[in-house]
Amino acid sequence: MVFVLKPNVSKEQTETFMKSWEDKGFSAILSPGTEHTAVCLIGNTANIDMDDVVHTSGIVEYGKRITERYKVAARSVHPDDTVIKVGNAVFDRHHFPVISGPCSVESEEQIIMLARAVKQSGAKILRGGAFKPRSSPYSFQGLGADGLRYLLAAKKDTGLPIVTEIMNQTQLPLFEDVDIIQIGARNMQNFDLLKCAGTAGKPILLKRGPASTIEDLLLSAEYLMVSGCRDVILCERGIRTFETATRNTLDLSSVPLLKQKTHLPVIVDPSHATGIRSLVRPLSHAILAVGADGLMLETHNDPAAALCDGAQSLNLREFDDLMADLKLRSVIERKEV
Ligand code: PEP
Ligand code: MN
Repeated sequence: MVFVLKPNVSKEQTETFMKSWEDKGFSAILSPGTEHTAVCLIGNTANIDMDDVVHTSGIVEYGKRITERYKVAARSVHPDDTVIKVGNAVFDRHHFPVISGPCSVESEEQIIMLARAVKQSGAKILRGGAFKPRSSPYSFQGLGADGLRYLLAAKKDTGLPIVTEIMNQTQLPLFEDVDIIQIGARNMQNFDLLKCAGTAGKPILLKRGPASTIEDLLLSAEYLMVSGCRDVILCERGIRTFETATRNTLDLSSVPLLKQKTHLPVIVDPSHATGIRSLVRPLSHAILAVGADGLMLETHNDPAAALCDGAQSLNLREFDDLMADLKLRSVIERKEV
């Protein structure tokens, strides 16, 4: 159940209202918005008389039962878009920040060089894996804590914020200076990790699991949000289907659908969605056109020699060309790249 508060209700009144529900055994979660502030009540609300609450509280405009299984992430609870700002990147319907970098950090020199190049082309955030989830235990597993240090060196050199993947809770202390924590597709339903990462006080990039429904993705976002993370960026990265011609099948319909169902920003990763470099450029155009709030893709100085995912990585010239294209198209889409 959600209570939408009247305009100009004070912080103290809101806190007293929330505490009154917590004293009754409910969990009350504040959902602030520019137009509406709402209090979301979790627990057995079946016997609550909404009209009674409106009359007796004096601060509630109206109450509403939430039919979705996810509550705090639901658009019906929070009609305003959540706008997330990280460095110069703004994730909202007026901007289209591009996150770029290698699949894995391979050395300090490489990541600094790539960070400078992608920044020059217009990327707003640097990506790079330090802890890598690989299907095979024989594949390169990432440089781990050293990789994180190199990413931080690249951040210091260029001023670009960084996003990198966490694989388990014990790694969290290493992520103190990371700007956005990535939870990868394989860990989307690692609920202990979600609960822990949600307490980090940082934006989280949550990638859709390869066999997860849109509702599963939103329920995982809900885990992060009830653990304290307001700034969840959802990332569509393709799902597994019968099709084997591409690495995954890019479900672009999830973008407008997610934006109807949730107020959280939605970005897309065409690199992992397809596994094929030549598909990244046309799909990036489609991703901008379908209304996504950003793009994440892999780039490498020498894709043929990449330690991970070279076949889907753009080289630096291809990335620069793509960025120039996207800047042109962004005029039509009325979004700033
Ligand atoms: C990645 O972005 O580095 C990654 C491993 O992607 P995914 O979790 O979508 O497979
Ligand atoms: Mn990769």
